[in-house]
Amino acid sequence: MRSKKIKEAGLGPFGHCAVALAAKPAAPKAPLGVLCLATEIPDILAVALGYAGIERAGAPLPWSHGLFMSAVWSVAGALLAGRLYRDFRAGVVVGLMVLSHWVLDFISHPIPFSTFSWRTWRWSYGHLLPSDLPLFFAGSPTVGLGLYNSISAIQASILELGMFAVGLTVYTRYVLRKGAARLESS
Ligand SMILES: [Zn+2]
Repeated sequence: MRSKKIKEAGLGPFGHCAVALAAKPAAPKAPLGVLCLATEIPDILAVALGYAGIERAGAPLPWSHGLFMSAVWSVAGALLAGRLYRDFRAGVVVGLMVLSHWVLDFISHPIPFSTFSWRTWRWSYGHLLPSDLPLFFAGSPTVGLGLYNSISAIQASILELGMFAVGLTVYTRYVLRKGAARLESS
């Protein structure tokens, strides 16, 4: 069951990284890779905590994906990045990247990934999954708008790749603008 755990936590890196691409112009001092990593922190934690036996796929994920702990990880990330890059903006944006993961998961989760077929790129709706995003800790209410419970796997993939394309456009324009400014000043 371990492989399933990883897949479930790992879906959606394109959607999450799209946010990092779009946010890069707001944080010139934070590397893009760090911003992208920040958006994936909850999923990385979910995989690690899954191996440690603390969280389980298909069940609520309070430590990695709870709203309260997401806010804690976000503040921790903000403080760390702010110190590391000696830049207030970089800290704020990194913190927001961590929190953005929860917001996107709130909209999309639960993901009917347990019934997903890699071969046909489809998930089937034999049963709708309950949400895996608790507000606080074990036993607290779980939330999620469940977008991925109501669209197909193909639609979800198109949506995420579309988000990624928008993010990439924003980022590319930023890089080109920066290059042009450098040319002008030299
Ligand atoms: Zn997630």
